[in-house]
Amino acid sequence: MVISRHITGKIRSARYIVEAILLPIYFLLPWLRWGEHPFIRLDIPNRKFYLLGNIFTPQEGYYLHLFLIGMGLSLFFFTTLIGRVWCGWACPQTVFTDVFDWIGRTILGSKYGKKDAPTFGKILVHFLWILVSVLGALAWVSYFADPYEMLSEVRSSAFLSSPPVWTYFTAFFTATLYLDMAFVREQFCKYACPYARFQTVMMDAHSVNVTYDLKRGEPRRKAGVQEGDCTACNLCLVVCPTGIDIREGTNVGCIACGKCVDACTKTMGKEGKKTLIGYMSETQANQPGAKVNWIRPRSLVYGTLLLCVLAAAGTLLYNRVPLYANILPDRIIQPMEVPGGLVRNFYNGHLLNLTFEERELKVEIANSTLSSPVHILLGGTEKPAIQVLGNDSQDFRIILETVALPQDQSKPTHQISLRITDLKNPNFQLQKTIPFRIPIK
Ligand code: SF4
Ligand code: SF4
Repeated sequence: MVISRHITGKIRSARYIVEAILLPIYFLLPWLRWGEHPFIRLDIPNRKFYLLGNIFTPQEGYYLHLFLIGMGLSLFFFTTLIGRVWCGWACPQTVFTDVFDWIGRTILGSKYGKKDAPTFGKILVHFLWILVSVLGALAWVSYFADPYEMLSEVRSSAFLSSPPVWTYFTAFFTATLYLDMAFVREQFCKYACPYARFQTVMMDAHSVNVTYDLKRGEPRRKAGVQEGDCTACNLCLVVCPTGIDIREGTNVGCIACGKCVDACTKTMGKEGKKTLIGYMSETQANQPGAKVNWIRPRSLVYGTLLLCVLAAAGTLLYNRVPLYANILPDRIIQPMEVPGGLVRNFYNGHLLNLTFEERELKVEIANSTLSSPVHILLGGTEKPAIQVLGNDSQDFRIILETVALPQDQSKPTHQISLRITDLKNPNFQLQKTIPFRIPIK
């Protein structure tokens, strides 16, 4: 386990403020309600995703694709502009490591991370780390299971004799979080994080990143002789959580946490000079006073692509009808001719109401490629509408029949467009095209 030296400073304080905002969001979000419904939850067993009073299903997977593409593009866009600032300031890995460090330092003081730290103190630190891991794991699991239900299950007498499924996941994530935070920490960012690999190729000389002012700093002090400003105090090195030397240049291991900035600010402050390490672009380090070039071909390309994805997602969401309809020809009862020159087709339908309100849905023919009018029977009767409870589904049967005119019989399959409308809200409307087959004589 690498425990870097603690350092105070402006960046450290600013990061504490950001973390103080992020942590309550992470822990409290699953408890929030939108009306009576979850503010956010991925309900895997029921295959539903709740967000801000909306219900999404796997059939709307394109939203997930757009979300992932948007996340990827925003990572590209922001990395190009401001480097790995996400990693050092907002990534849960970094935020939780800081929480664990704070506990360690509070209990063990200057002995934190040292071999000669008191045994009781070390045991207490690990106990508290496990406790925080349990809380972190519970918070994570409650994004997938209802935390209020979890709480009532904990209170129930059957909890210990037959633990619910979420307890196993909590145990697994507790172990993962504890082992990660207690033993792996920022080494994960350095060696295992997939984003770190390609984030470095997103950056160029104009990206604002943690950079060492090579021009001013070098040649660094050696045996009391100083030519450049760097005093070779190595404080930037010992505070670095990933153990890299930023003076060697931009490094894949740098998570832009800014600890070395605070360290150098302290050292240079004693000399009455400005820090040698700061959030600046390479161009700024080489040309003091140069402005950051925000508008560059790659930032324009990533920004435009990101806007396109956001616009596509916004348009789809704006036009979204929260209803899923699946209507398929019956596999058992084939299209048939009935006396009177009528042709009948049978279908099985499934309606999924993706709102929390009960809907009365009318199914009617919007248009068809058949020459004669098509008659519709819902559920085999003339019942005008199907009732579907909020956040529920309803299976039903449809029978379509028409008089098969000679001009329609030349074509074995026709297209029928069904219009499904909420009787109380005409804007809640969906169209579905289904085939209508004429039996071969
Ligand atoms: S080099 Fe500086 S900013 Fe980068 S990880 Fe190390 S301490 Fe943090
Ligand atoms: S903290 Fe600053 S002065 Fe000290 S070694 Fe690092 S760059 Fe040089």
